Amino acid sequence: MGKTNNRDTRCSFCGIGKGDTQMLIAGDGAHICDRCITQASEILNEELKQRKSKHLQTALKLIRPAEIKEHLDQYVIGQDDAKKVISVAVYNHYKRLNQKVDKDEIELEKSNLIVVGETGTGKTLLAKTVAKILNVPFCIVDATVLTEAGYVGEDVESILTRLLQAADYDVAAAERGIIYIDEIDKIARKSDNPSITRDVSGEGVQQALLKILEGTNVNVPPQGGRKHPDQKMITVNTSNILFICGGAFDGIQKKIANRLRTQTVGYKMKDDSDDIDLNNLYKYITPQDLKNFGLIPELIGRLPVLTYLNPLDKETLLNILTKPKNALIKQYEKLFEYEDIEITFDPEVYNLVVDKAWEFKLGARGLRSICEAIMLDAMFEIPSIKDQMEHKKLHITVAYANDKLDKSDMKKLLVA
Ligand code: ADP
Repeated sequence: MGKTNNRDTRCSFCGIGKGDTQMLIAGDGAHICDRCITQASEILNEELKQRKSKHLQTALKLIRPAEIKEHLDQYVIGQDDAKKVISVAVYNHYKRLNQKVDKDEIELEKSNLIVVGETGTGKTLLAKTVAKILNVPFCIVDATVLTEAGYVGEDVESILTRLLQAADYDVAAAERGIIYIDEIDKIARKSDNPSITRDVSGEGVQQALLKILEGTNVNVPPQGGRKHPDQKMITVNTSNILFICGGAFDGIQKKIANRLRTQTVGYKMKDDSDDIDLNNLYKYITPQDLKNFGLIPELIGRLPVLTYLNPLDKETLLNILTKPKNALIKQYEKLFEYEDIEITFDPEVYNLVVDKAWEFKLGARGLRSICEAIMLDAMFEIPSIKDQMEHKKLHITVAYANDKLDKSDMKKLLVA
């Protein structure tokens, strides 16, 4: 131990003298030095992390498929088939996680999922909500930015960087997280014939994803990308990470229809057994259709659970606007509540929003931008004038909503 300026004042933990430390903090009859504080903080963080992991393990056991679905029902409207399939897959996945494999036991395989459905029908929302229910780290990555290693774009390892970041670099937590890979259909093989140029953003990426999906140790750059070449890699085991892939698979309906030996337009074909619902051919999707679309069989094999989302009809859009726990309308009510203003809507305003969203063909995603166009002026002006308002109430009529929509840029989009 080095010399000290004041022999009496020492760290009560390590004994270091005041003169040899950067800082010595005094407590009731004791002192602690900066180094001991840092060390204690590290021990504390480590301990808390372990407790969190243990808590996670016990919590996961308790969530049965029916309970998962009940939670999903609060946030996601309709899509019952997908909710059921996802609840069971997720439950089985975490059952597998808690399995202690001994020699004779049957090893459960991973139940990574693939969800097909038009844009804005709730694929991302389902994945996000499941992660929230389970309280596990979650991230969304876009398959279109990925390329084969060594090419311009992001390596597939970067998806694990995102998960690590979402888990606050808690590797143990990340290793039981959920990754949603969006637009998986965009990395389909470009054509059946091997072309002269390499397919680095299509089949190449599919190949690169295989190992990660199945489960392996991956060295992950914690800051991502190639911008920080000196960073120390973190090893992440992907065996227990649940992957949910989503995509619209535009055009797959035709392939499904061909397989069903019917046509997509015109008439309903009477099958031997059932009527075929031509408005929702996604319902009949099989792994074979994914293969015909351009996913390689090995990738399909690693995404064993396949489910679909229904296109949203007007009634569902209306429900999405008003019913879920965090429905858009409820969010606006909350925003104005913060200003001490009670906001109400003509019910026809809801129908107007739904009709416009229907025209946009953006699924539920259109609802938000239409509402924003209607509400922008009110949200701009109310905070400045609310003190002068006699009745702290605001009622949105359908005439007002129409006027705001007419004046907004939305209209141009609708015409386009
Ligand atoms: P996708 O991933 O299928 O393109 P998202 O899940 O991102 O679509 O949905 C876009 C937005 O639309 C979500 O943020 C959500 O608010 C809303 N939404 C879509 N489908 C539903 C649904 N079935 N129930 C409730 N909200 C939905």
